[in-house]
Amino acid sequence: MNETLLVTGAGGFIGGHLVAQLRKLGYRRLRAVDIKPPSDWFQRFDDVENVTADLREKASCYSVCEGVSSIYNLAADMGGIGFITGNKVACMLSVLINTHLLMAALEKRVSRYFFSSTACVYNTAKQTDPQALALKESDAYPAMPEDGYGWEKLFGEHMCRHFREEFGLATRVARFHNSYGPFGTWRGGREKAPASLCRKIIEAKYQGTGEIEIWGDGEQTRSFMYVNDNIEGILKIMDSDIELPINLGSSERVTINQLVDIIEEIAGFNVRRRYLLDKPQGVCGRNSDNTLILEKLGWEPTTPLTQGLVTTYRWIEQEYLNTVGKP
Ligand code: NAD
Repeated sequence: MNETLLVTGAGGFIGGHLVAQLRKLGYRRLRAVDIKPPSDWFQRFDDVENVTADLREKASCYSVCEGVSSIYNLAADMGGIGFITGNKVACMLSVLINTHLLMAALEKRVSRYFFSSTACVYNTAKQTDPQALALKESDAYPAMPEDGYGWEKLFGEHMCRHFREEFGLATRVARFHNSYGPFGTWRGGREKAPASLCRKIIEAKYQGTGEIEIWGDGEQTRSFMYVNDNIEGILKIMDSDIELPINLGSSERVTINQLVDIIEEIAGFNVRRRYLLDKPQGVCGRNSDNTLILEKLGWEPTTPLTQGLVTTYRWIEQEYLNTVGKP
């Protein structure tokens, strides 16, 4: 509890929840870093050392790693499918964050390093059918990840591996499958499907249009992990002896249309669905094969989508009413 832990991307969705949980667990020396000023963070705590820094810069990484025992690297320039399709350079430049942090971790004798990878590293050719088999860790090869964002994360995984193999830095890598929950991006272009669809249904309800747009035909499949499970998984993987990348995701597969059904039920409001077939929609089918995490940890994310979405929807609805207001 007296060790200094560094959480990067702490002003973001998952990083904010991680800092909150580490505080709850009793860690008192927490350094939270983000490129955004603390006033823009989703969650901010006054008893935490809150730092604004651009971690693509090597000097910033060396400075924030001073005196640190473990690093949770959640910083990345990322967003939903619309953002990662249109901003491949920005996504790939996050390679500087992981590279400089690993170099700093080594120099500053940090003992453990966590890297947040993604299901976007998986070979896209294995995800062309909505009923495609759930992805197991070996399905990242032969490598054909999501262009831009996926390549950057796959490269990051290998950087972690080689820093461990050649220099003995204990690195842990989890491949997150879509995470959702309160205190995350819900508008502005970086939001992912659950938050985006909650917001669209809220807008349709309060603005009286009664209609939402869906990217694709809505039959693409995904799994969605509630953020509390995501945080529990990060902590378990960090504490484990799992050295190679491992899935961290829900195995409850749904179509996007089913996701909309659930949100309509929570909202108590049915919408007309307009399908935009020319918009980015990502791979056709994706789910997490949790065989390895069950074998290694005897645990997997289990929060039902219907349950996690209630909290998420209510939070976004409140944010909407606070910022946009009822018309
Ligand atoms: P997020 O965008 O909410 O948080 C990322 C944070 O990193 C942001 O607050 C951003 O300002 C910060 N950041 C970006 N560039 C930075 C820089 N140069 N220096 C310092 N901070 C910088 O995203 P998130 O959903 O919380 O994702 C956290 C991590 O998990 C990311 O690495 C992401 O790639 C990974 N991930 C997330 C999901 C998901 O479903 N949310 C899925 C797979 C992987």
